[in-house]
Amino acid sequence: MGDEPVMATNDDASECKRGAVQLGYWQDSYISSFVRHIEKRAPEINRGYFARVKGMERFIQKFLSKAGSLAQIVNFGAGYDTLYWRLKEEGIHISNYVEIDFPNVTSNKCYMIKRNKELLQIIHDQDGEIKFSSTDLHAGNYHCIGVDMRNLALLETKLQQAEVNYSSPTLFLAECVLVYIENDCVNRLLQWIASKFKTALFVNYEMCNINDTFGDVMLGNLRARGCNLAGISSCKNVETQKERFQLNGWLGTKAWDMVQIYYNLPACERQRIEKIEFLDEQELLIQLFQHYCICIGWLGEEFQEVNFEEC
Ligand code: SAM
Repeated sequence: MGDEPVMATNDDASECKRGAVQLGYWQDSYISSFVRHIEKRAPEINRGYFARVKGMERFIQKFLSKAGSLAQIVNFGAGYDTLYWRLKEEGIHISNYVEIDFPNVTSNKCYMIKRNKELLQIIHDQDGEIKFSSTDLHAGNYHCIGVDMRNLALLETKLQQAEVNYSSPTLFLAECVLVYIENDCVNRLLQWIASKFKTALFVNYEMCNINDTFGDVMLGNLRARGCNLAGISSCKNVETQKERFQLNGWLGTKAWDMVQIYYNLPACERQRIEKIEFLDEQELLIQLFQHYCICIGWLGEEFQEVNFEEC
């Protein structure tokens, strides 16, 4: 069936995020520029997305506070993620921001950016030209590039076109992406990063603890939609998620399941969002959280102390 079902997971994630934003779970002024369609999701799905977005955000903040204005971000399988525009809105300066996805996805994203004055103005607030091709966009410090991440040689060329600086402290993000990629390819990618970058933090949001009935149902749904879960064996548990970094030349790694992440978010924020929708089955939400995790890996001592709990 090819990669189309995997690309379609971006529509699903973006629609879920748009729906949760609309209900007030968190703020994102830009998601509606990429997603028009809103479908009502179950409250546990909205809470799950809230934990995912807030969990990722926490690590992004930690990275930025250590890396300062030299910070560079590479967002793998970015889909219609709006982080670049949200950081700009907050007045956070970074040196370079690169989004990567399949060319079909980036061409849609580039097209939507081109047609949207507000998005365009934000990426083009410095002098210099905007370079477009059908799948790529380069403007100032924003780059959206279309490439299959499994093709490491082409990825490297495209990252050079995106002016990636191997000596800048770099944050790599992957939110529900690596599960669709063969382990060999992920291993090669992680090894390549470890050989090129001195200082980096990789933040990976992914499934875990999949070997139970709940896991079977989750995976069954994705497989029924035609998704090839090529990297699923790394999602066995948080230990197998960490092994990826341990075995591929990273200095260190840590992981938390989403139960830990959710209950470490500020209590006032949790109380606020728990009032948005009534949740009948608390148990279902906990099960969902038990099946996702955030795993980080780092290169360079600077990020050794990055922790979730100490916020
Ligand atoms: N990270 C975004 C988010 O959380 O909203 C999108 C997540 S979506 C579940 C997975 C994304 O990974 C899709 O946009 C898909 O096209 C992308 N992806 C999966 N495998 C890829 C590959 N080999 N190369 C490039 N992108 C890939």
